[in-house]
Amino acid sequence: MLTDNAIEILKERYLLRNAEGKIIESPEELFRRVSRHIASAEKKDRSLWEARFYNLLAGLEFLPNSPTLMNAGNPKGQLSACFVLPVDDSLESIFTSLKDAALIHQSGGGTGYNFSKLRPKGDWVTTSSGKASGPVAFMKVYDAATEHVKQGGKRRGANMGILNADHPDILDFITSKADDLSLQNFNISVGISNEFMKAVEEQLPWSLINPRDGSIAKKVEATEVWNAITEEAWKTGDPGLIFLSTINEQNPTPNLGTIESTNPCGEVPLLPYESCNLGSLNLVKMISSQNDNIRLDWTKLGDTVTMAVRFLDNVIDANHYILSQIKKMTTTNRKIGLGVMGWAELLMLLEIPYASKKAISLGERLMKFIKEKSYEASTALSKERGSFSSGQKRRNATCNSIAPTGTISVIANTSYSIEPLFALAYQRVGILGGKVQNEFNRVFVQKMKELKLWNKEIENEVRKTGSIQHIKTIPNDMKELFKTSLEIPWEYHLKHQLAFQKYTDNAVSKTINLPTSATIDEVSTIFWTAWKYKLKGITVYRYGSKSKQVLQKCNLN
Ligand code: UDP
Repeated sequence: MLTDNAIEILKERYLLRNAEGKIIESPEELFRRVSRHIASAEKKDRSLWEARFYNLLAGLEFLPNSPTLMNAGNPKGQLSACFVLPVDDSLESIFTSLKDAALIHQSGGGTGYNFSKLRPKGDWVTTSSGKASGPVAFMKVYDAATEHVKQGGKRRGANMGILNADHPDILDFITSKADDLSLQNFNISVGISNEFMKAVEEQLPWSLINPRDGSIAKKVEATEVWNAITEEAWKTGDPGLIFLSTINEQNPTPNLGTIESTNPCGEVPLLPYESCNLGSLNLVKMISSQNDNIRLDWTKLGDTVTMAVRFLDNVIDANHYILSQIKKMTTTNRKIGLGVMGWAELLMLLEIPYASKKAISLGERLMKFIKEKSYEASTALSKERGSFSSGQKRRNATCNSIAPTGTISVIANTSYSIEPLFALAYQRVGILGGKVQNEFNRVFVQKMKELKLWNKEIENEVRKTGSIQHIKTIPNDMKELFKTSLEIPWEYHLKHQLAFQKYTDNAVSKTINLPTSATIDEVSTIFWTAWKYKLKGITVYRYGSKSKQVLQKCNLN
């Protein structure tokens, strides 16, 4: 069942090792270890639940986020991928959260922070009668710490750094990754309010506010900030935007505070000290076929959602929490994030092009169904186990997130999250760097063989270019079906993000991949449309604009 690729990744990072570093479990034993540990949160019928969870994982129908796979069953097994920590305007707070972040990274989690409470660079510091360093300088300290903690851990520490558009240092922040060397362990995003967007729309002056005392530090044109953002995102992919007004309109626990940050990849808005554990359904496993007719198996999908929600709720109780504050927040709100992987491959199997209305309406229907089933499951759990807070019907404050599934989709051998295929053949640069692997997409090859279109010549062309768009002998409908990420208009990337966001109570992690030829104006339109669509965040990436890319188009010549 597992591919060589999957086995290699499991061996490198997931399978348990003894003190000498020797691997001491098989992939089957890994799935057993995880299901046993997660079933230990059950009050009764533990072995029955263990068997059910095992089938879910070993059948690759659903996988939890990496920390759960790596750490479940260890006495201090930390199982969550997503955290947000507070950063207040004091050295005490800055370095307390830095230490906490280091511990979270060491355990496999990623952390997000909003640095907007820090006084700007050059501002007065009473205690030392000196000048403040400002948020960007402290982010560099966080970045350096992440770099070194990374060396010991199995997984790269990841950070989300946010600065709100009205912070006096916003222009420095926007270009803080411009040299392609700084803040390598950070995704950066500008925190955007509706007021800012209106100021841009109406071309109004925009006040930058000193958070220390609320005074106006400077007035700029709102469009100056906007243009700096879009130009830099066009150049390097950073910053992205986080739409904080939209996020807080949908904050499920407003009485506990305002949400200021998300986790590193943006799919989970969280309050300070909240954590969330994620899991993804493998959509390719949710089909049935009759007389060669492939269709979505809604019954199986519904049953799998119900089981996955229970699994993720159990993770909260089977978890080891690094900090008491995190334990308190997480067990109070009990946020979970069930999402999907393999969306592009599912569409290919159903012969629906990604860039089509049919794909968008199926995406909406699918996610609506997943959300409804998740809420039903969470409500049923609240009857059995109690709700997350009084007056609520559900067990979990949130149920759904669309995570990038950067590693678990490789383990499940399917396409990432809701992303289209990046190429039909590509080189995968090893997750920890190093080894380069060459691959053809198997669903594509299988379909081409079925249609008797697969031959040496086409194979070589695809190997060289990753695409079939230029091959004359291939019929147009197949060209439509197998369009890759950069061949799909950005409008469709965004529409898929919207289709899934509509029915996702947390957020959707999606990259709007653009060809090198995309313009700054296009980036501006994409960001603007994302806000109008009420997305919670947006990231673009123009091909070739970073020196290191995880996925490279294949060019083996
Ligand atoms: N994450 C992290 N380090 C990484 C990749 C991911 O800390 O190198 C965290 C981060 O919070 C991200 C979340 O894990 O948003 C989910 O990422 P993904 O779905 O790619 O993880 P997987 O479970 O596939 O490893």
